[in-house]
Amino acid sequence: MRPLTKKIQLVNPPIPGFSSLELVKNYFAPLGLLSIATCLSSKMPSVEVEILDGSILTLGEIKRRLEAEIVGISTNSFNYPSALKIAQTAKKKGAKVVLGGVHASFLPVNILRNREYLDAIVVGDGEESMVDYVQGKPFSEIKNLVYRDEEKKIRMNEVANVDLSKLPVIERKFLDQSLYFEAFQKDYPNLPYKKPIAIYSQKGCPWRDKTGGCVFCGRMDKGFRMRSPKQVWEEIEYLVKSYEVDLVWDVADCFTTSKDWLSAFLASKPKHLNPLFMVFARADELDEERVKILKEINCYRVILGVESGDENVLKRSQKGTTLQQILSSAKLLEEFRINTWPSFVLGLPGESEKSLKNTYSLAKFLSSLKNAEALTVSVLIPFPGSKAFAFMLRMPKLAEKYLGRDLFDLEELQKDWVRYFCHADFACLKEYQEKMLRLVPHGTRLI
Ligand code: SF4
Repeated sequence: MRPLTKKIQLVNPPIPGFSSLELVKNYFAPLGLLSIATCLSSKMPSVEVEILDGSILTLGEIKRRLEAEIVGISTNSFNYPSALKIAQTAKKKGAKVVLGGVHASFLPVNILRNREYLDAIVVGDGEESMVDYVQGKPFSEIKNLVYRDEEKKIRMNEVANVDLSKLPVIERKFLDQSLYFEAFQKDYPNLPYKKPIAIYSQKGCPWRDKTGGCVFCGRMDKGFRMRSPKQVWEEIEYLVKSYEVDLVWDVADCFTTSKDWLSAFLASKPKHLNPLFMVFARADELDEERVKILKEINCYRVILGVESGDENVLKRSQKGTTLQQILSSAKLLEEFRINTWPSFVLGLPGESEKSLKNTYSLAKFLSSLKNAEALTVSVLIPFPGSKAFAFMLRMPKLAEKYLGRDLFDLEELQKDWVRYFCHADFACLKEYQEKMLRLVPHGTRLI
């Protein structure tokens, strides 16, 4: 039996060298860590739980503040280099170090093989696994845990989704929410909302579940789970009452997938709750009925997964949508006066100068609509876990270079991808990215 834990720290590492996530970075507290912190403190009230968020703290500040017996670190491909530095410091200070998040979930074995200072990885949902880990349950009995046994062999336990209906409403008290609001208001004083906050109503994407997903998708949730509309409204009520939240960003992969759920969500909407909403949607799902519901729940902005303006490239992206669907969904959103934030990915399989021109033309058209507001243009990053990454590993030269690795130079990954899978070169993609970003005032890029 391990000794009783007095304190646990959960860390969202800062992203080195990136300041361009703009409308997303800095303004939203890390939801996954908040959910884990809520579970830990509700199950073990005597354990002190602290979140160190790299959106508001520097790497140096985080390293200085590490002092817990257990440090859990949330990773993605952007923050992984900082995560390793934090993990090393935590280990030197005597902590058990557990990694979770999307990057660790896709590469648990590589990570444990390559980083002897890490104790364990949690794959997928971390709420129950972290509670079990902190409570000292034997490793072999902790679901979703990847660890080394007594003989230093890497063991991978069964991976299971948690039952969302059993999770408590996510508490926000672990972080000073006003810091996020202030950062947002400073950068965007003219938007009609001042206090945005993130929640999730659903986890997973049925398209990914059915087909393996879009080529570029590096999201990790398996299956498709929906929280009950009542539960979601209860959370929103708490956020509005406690923090005067005026925009709810639902980070569900595809908010509009289930028409039944959407209708139930509208039907259970309390009359006195009217925050704005920002949601993700697929073009093939936005029919008139759904858009009408979005309007009625007070949806301010839809982030629309457009990806490409070239029919052929769109097909090869395995998105499962057509140009016609993109155009009609954008028109519907315009008709219902819901702002559209189209999201594009350049460097999809078969991308050429001709397809880039088509994509630019579509972006220009969408930017000319009355509801055009923002735009995201990314050059495809073949994230570990994505189909694109798997395609790369089928190339002997790239497999030799990348198999077994856990740490990647993202630009190098991008360039290798483009060299093997596109007909346009990397410089050309970057040129189009910049050109497209200039079409609207709030152009953002992931990399
Ligand atoms: S990009 Fe969106 S639609 Fe495509 S698989 Fe991922 S979550 Fe699903």
